[in-house]
Amino acid sequence: MDPRHVKPESIAAQALGWVDDKTRAITPAIHVSSTYLRDPDNQYRSGRVYARADNPAFDQAEAVLAQLEEGAQAALFASGMAAATAVFQALSPGDHVLAPKVMYWSLRNWLMNFATRWGLNVELIDMTDPAAVQAAARPGVTKLVWIETPANPLWTVTDIAATAEIAHAAGALVAVDSTVASPVLTRPLTLGADIVMHAGTKYLNGHSDLVAGALVTREDSEFWRRVKTVRAQIGGTLGSFEAWLLLRGMRTLYLRVRAASQSAQRIAEHFNGHPLVEAVLYPGLPDAHGHAISMRQMQGGFGGMMSLRVKASAQGGEAAAIATAASVELWKRATSLGGTESLIEHRASVEGAGTPAPPDLLRLSVGIEDCADLIADLEQALARAHA
Ligand SMILES: *Cc1c(COP(=O)(O)O)cnc(C)c1O
Repeated sequence: MDPRHVKPESIAAQALGWVDDKTRAITPAIHVSSTYLRDPDNQYRSGRVYARADNPAFDQAEAVLAQLEEGAQAALFASGMAAATAVFQALSPGDHVLAPKVMYWSLRNWLMNFATRWGLNVELIDMTDPAAVQAAARPGVTKLVWIETPANPLWTVTDIAATAEIAHAAGALVAVDSTVASPVLTRPLTLGADIVMHAGTKYLNGHSDLVAGALVTREDSEFWRRVKTVRAQIGGTLGSFEAWLLLRGMRTLYLRVRAASQSAQRIAEHFNGHPLVEAVLYPGLPDAHGHAISMRQMQGGFGGMMSLRVKASAQGGEAAAIATAASVELWKRATSLGGTESLIEHRASVEGAGTPAPPDLLRLSVGIEDCADLIADLEQALARAHA
């Protein structure tokens, strides 16, 4: 398959159409070896030495992902967090980085509690406001601008192209956590980003049965080689079986993300203005934060993630939200996102003190079940929570 002549749907469905040379198998073997034979003349001509650095099980999944993101190279990691933190650890103590105030909670925690102790100068700003990025970016000092869009758990939207322009003018690299959009809906590298990060745990795999992460780079740079060195040295390396599962999951990426996006749009429209719902946070609603930017930046839908702010019952908004989550029968009460099954979560309980999530907020990950079933279940849960 020549990836230049087919659509990304075709690339994903056939995982680039690779066939095993030895067996003609159309799905790859799983290589589990931790070590590789050295040539008699003391060279390593296979290019493989030890599986902490690299693994043949990664090749196809990394090639597929690099194509889907229109990047030069991809690298798989043991988790989304391993991927994200490798980017920050490729910087040097003293470097100034900008990150959003509203972002994936565990990464924000790591930045404030580990990266700062390690010497990074982390500044949290309103990344959705280009003027705030402009004011905070220090030419020659700011080395990285981290974007997450749409951002957990409020689904606020950052203009990748505009932010990249400001960051690059200051000499900073731009990395985008694109877990929620997935390459189906947004390709940050084509909008000026230097690195894209995914929690492969989520949409890329899509079946809630593995933990994985990935980075894709626009170009093979010195910085990218440092990131790969961090992976090899710290050992944030994915296992062979997980890489194989991830490749399998990506074959249905386009079908799953489009189905989830369509359902999410219908659910958002259904509950927007609903008497038991205070607000629906979803980039696909015309009055949503950054909707005009989403229209430009996301193609073919606005993703499967949204939040509902539940109208207060006699016990208040937080109690009503928790009671709604307690009353669902089809939705699953669980954290994470991007699987085939729909998940519901009281986000403030997960994030704790300092969370930007209002106490009445439920985070929804819309799966690929029948949409009317999902709406009916939320309706009955909201009604019971307010009875
Ligand atoms: C889940 C997630 C991560 C972290 O990924 P893990 O695989 O859980 O380490 C990072 N960013 C976003 C947006 C996520 O949803």
